[in-house]
Amino acid sequence: FGEGTEKDIDSSKITVQLTKNPKKKKEDPNEYGFGKYMSDHMLEIDYIDKKFTVPRIVPFHDFPVHPATSVIHYGITAFEGMKAYKDSEGKIRLFRPMKNMKRFLKSARRLCLPDFNPEELLKCIEKLVMIEKDWVPEKKGFAAYIRPIIMGTDQFLGLKPASKYKIFVIISPVGSYYSDGMKGIRLFAQNEYLRSWVGGTGGNKLGGNYAPTLLPTLKGFEKECKSVLFLDKEGKVTEAGAMNCMVIWENENNERELITPSLEDNTILPGITRDSILKLAKESGQFDKVTEGDITINQLVKAHNENRLFEIFGCGTAAIVSPVLGFKYEGKTYDFAKDGKLGEFTLYLYDTILSIQHGEIEHQWSHLI
Ligand code: PMP
Repeated sequence: FGEGTEKDIDSSKITVQLTKNPKKKKEDPNEYGFGKYMSDHMLEIDYIDKKFTVPRIVPFHDFPVHPATSVIHYGITAFEGMKAYKDSEGKIRLFRPMKNMKRFLKSARRLCLPDFNPEELLKCIEKLVMIEKDWVPEKKGFAAYIRPIIMGTDQFLGLKPASKYKIFVIISPVGSYYSDGMKGIRLFAQNEYLRSWVGGTGGNKLGGNYAPTLLPTLKGFEKECKSVLFLDKEGKVTEAGAMNCMVIWENENNERELITPSLEDNTILPGITRDSILKLAKESGQFDKVTEGDITINQLVKAHNENRLFEIFGCGTAAIVSPVLGFKYEGKTYDFAKDGKLGEFTLYLYDTILSIQHGEIEHQWSHLI
């Protein structure tokens, strides 16, 4: 794909049209919550006739949608989620942003969309973020969420690879994920509804992966579980809601291990937080083993019954970590956290990654714009 592209994204040609009606920002960034408010501008790039248009930063606006547009019929769409953070000097930082760009390209390829240059796209996003820098809240733990999206825009009812598509990027200021303090959750472990399967698209960030997770999530709410532990048909753990899942236990060989499902068969989204945590866990020296491999629900139940299950957490850009206190499986509840206490390593990861993101800990992962 992309071989026929005659003109790639060229960030040096970007045009900027500023809004005449900037929106009022909240004094208390906690009022933003998540994803409700949008900043003043957006980035747009179209792919038409084998060429990318000049990238444009324009006032935030609606799109007119032709009713036959391919994205609304066949879900030709993928997205990314990343954040911009402000450091104590007011400088703007991203966290490992090229990883998001490369994952975005991988998703686009799965949808047969012609390639774009991920480095050039990042330069355009950086320009947008700098124009919107006042939308990045100052407090630690707050951020501006950056949502790049790609969608097929052919106006044609036949199912075929898109010959036209649009990349756009919007920004939403977000409050602290843990505005009332970090809370542990219980997971609804089930494999009636699968999130992904071998040969499927679970390892890509496609729009179509997400809507089908709503039904099992609602079923989990009915059982007082805040999120779903998605298992495959064999009972292997895949992901925790829209987060990667990590387990800290004493394994059956009496080793203290941090384990997370491997990326091998494309059923797991290659999370940037996941990758960062694996590296931090190895460096911490706290584990005999840091493993990417299979975890079955039966092993989790057994470890719980033998008091070998120490911590489970979800991880992802939105929350960094989401501590798990227990899970429900086949009508039984397995609460393993002693007195509802949050896991120590989970808390260490939260503090460390947040401090790297805000530039308090010098780290190559923090990308100064
Ligand atoms: N799994 C799924 C299904 C997700 O949607 C996300 C969020 N992008 C993640 C895991 C975590 O990925 P990341 O750490 O890159 O945010």
